[in-house]
Amino acid sequence: MSPQEQQLQKLLDLKRDLENDLERLSRDADESEQELAASLSYDDRVAGLAALAQDRELDLSLEEKVRMLLDRVNAAITEINDGTYGTCKSCGKPISRERLEFLPYAERCVECKRRQEMK
Ligand SMILES: [Zn+2]
Repeated sequence: MSPQEQQLQKLLDLKRDLENDLERLSRDADESEQELAASLSYDDRVAGLAALAQDRELDLSLEEKVRMLLDRVNAAITEINDGTYGTCKSCGKPISRERLEFLPYAERCVECKRRQEMK
């Protein structure tokens, strides 16, 4: 499997998990939100959700965060198919492989992300 295929596999797995989360959230809003928040806390997706919310400085419901992350995952899958995957949205340089392994749906390289956080 090429590194690109491995990333695609990770993104597809994540997409499936997120779709399951959304389904659980829509089935029984109040109860599953708590339940899901509990299960997510053992999962590194929480880091991704928190980072996304922080990026946009928004106070979002869990469902909105999951949706936002799912959108980003879908966009990354499209980018793999287009051959534009792994390019920083701000500076256009390639995003490091370590970063993409940790965060397969990363939009920006570490430098741009840091610059953005300092603002
Ligand atoms: Zn950059």
